[in-house]
Amino acid sequence: MAGSGASGGRGGVVVVGLGAAGASLAWRLAGSGVPLRVVEAPAGSGRRTQSRTWCTWGAAGPGPFGHLVSAQWPRVRLVPERGDDVVAHLGGWRYRMLSSEDLDVAVRERLRAAGTAVEEFVVDDPADLREPGWTVVDTRPVPVPRTGRTLLLQHFLGWRVRAARPAFDASTATLMDFRVPQPAGGVAFGYVLPTSAHEALVEYTQFSSAVLTREEYERELRDYLQRSGIGEVQVLGEEQGVIPMTDAEFGPSPVAGVLRWGAASGSVRPSTGYAFSALQRQADVLAERARAGAPLVLPPAHRRRHLLMDSLVLEALARGRLDGAGFFAGLFARNPVHRVLGFLDGGTGPADDLRLMASSPRGPMLRTVLGRVVPVRR
Ligand SMILES: Cc1cc2nc3c(=O)[nH]c(=O)nc-3n(C[C@H](O)[C@H](O)[C@H](O)COP(=O)(O)OP(=O)(O)OC[C@H]3O[C@@H](n4cnc5c(N)ncnc54)[C@H](O)[C@@H]3O)c2cc1C
Repeated sequence: MAGSGASGGRGGVVVVGLGAAGASLAWRLAGSGVPLRVVEAPAGSGRRTQSRTWCTWGAAGPGPFGHLVSAQWPRVRLVPERGDDVVAHLGGWRYRMLSSEDLDVAVRERLRAAGTAVEEFVVDDPADLREPGWTVVDTRPVPVPRTGRTLLLQHFLGWRVRAARPAFDASTATLMDFRVPQPAGGVAFGYVLPTSAHEALVEYTQFSSAVLTREEYERELRDYLQRSGIGEVQVLGEEQGVIPMTDAEFGPSPVAGVLRWGAASGSVRPSTGYAFSALQRQADVLAERARAGAPLVLPPAHRRRHLLMDSLVLEALARGRLDGAGFFAGLFARNPVHRVLGFLDGGTGPADDLRLMASSPRGPMLRTVLGRVVPVRR
């Protein structure tokens, strides 16, 4: 949460959790002169986050991890339910992927070289780790607050596949392919990240209010493989996840000297489920403050304006006012790709945001705004 969780002063930092947030801060503080402890849940403890891939986009990066990028794409594609694909060249930008396993190995190596051991135990109460002058940066997951207007889930099953025929264009990431049945009060799409003509990560994703059963995910993913023309595949690996998409505020840690951060502090962008690049921006500021001996105060992950726009979209989608597939396809069809991706990454200014709003379906968005300002009469 913006500006929350001021704590500590000159002293050291205890990073709890070595996921996207914790690893990003530990990387920056390793060998910086800031006294550092890093604690991660042991593998097999039931608390350790499962490995995953993170994607980001932009001119460089993500953050200091450009060297860990395992695949990148100069073009992105959106496939509407009907009509022509939108394919956009990213110019100097790339859509990039890195794996949590590679980041874990790299950050542990860097910490080892700097003389910081990763301590492996389950933290139940971060207050136990406090020492005078130190700040505990707690990145453990928290239950999603139910205090927002809308809570949707971004839930998916992805397979790393080898296709029987050369089915993929390795220069193009398919961000959303809407040629799948659409759920009420949500949206569903295929997501394809090819690494060669034969291999790709292919996901079936829904933004909706309830997760599916294992059988349902598999059926939808197999159905998408057929509908998209990828056809028969050998499954090499899998990735499954549930990311809350909410306009609820995530509260700060109630414990003095403990700074809650990560997905647990609302760093996930509500309209996309992405957090990795926002975490890099926040990690830069936190590391800078720690190096300067300043209190660790969490900078906002996202601009208020963008959070408001996300909140309207989520509500319109969840209430079934907005045709999600048409909305996202229209956004990409009616705007330059850098404006859309810039907005989704939090980089656009007011003028571009207005242009994006002007290109959105007026009726559903207006009804959602009016629903907030006009008192409901019984
Ligand atoms: C499957 C999946 C894919 C995603 N893909 C993307 C993507 O492509 N791009 C993007 O921008 N965002 C993505 N996200 C969203 C977001 O970036 C991730 O959820 C990200 O991992 C959040 O980082 P975090 O550090 O807050 O949490 P985590 O990465 O989950 O890290 C939390 C850490 O705390 C540790 N831990 C937990 N409990 C304890 C405990 N009691 N004691 C000690 N340690 C503990 C865990 O082991 C873990 O290392 C994805 C999310 C999921 C679930």
